[in-house]
Amino acid sequence: MLCTTTRPGQECALMGKDGCGFNGGTCHPAVEPCLGCDHSVTVGDMVYCKSYPDPAVKWRYGNCNFATHVKGEAKEAPKNLNPIKASKRAHAR
Ligand code: SF4
Repeated sequence: MLCTTTRPGQECALMGKDGCGFNGGTCHPAVEPCLGCDHSVTVGDMVYCKSYPDPAVKWRYGNCNFATHVKGEAKEAPKNLNPIKASKRAHAR
């Protein structure tokens, strides 16, 4: 349904007959790491996300998984590797 509050005229999944269904009735502005993302949209002086109503939450624990401008980070090798067990596993092959 088309937004009638923060991003008027733009499609939004949270908009309903009774208005914006997001907590507080409006989207929250985008955060700095969102700059350059294809999902960010400028409305007046503010930048919002077309995909998520509270962008700061998407960056709280790492990169936003919807971001189009950030590549995934390489996973670290598992820690606490026991060298004795690793040696046994290597010889068992
Ligand atoms: S998809 Fe993620 S990075 Fe892109 S604008 Fe939305 S919250 Fe920001």
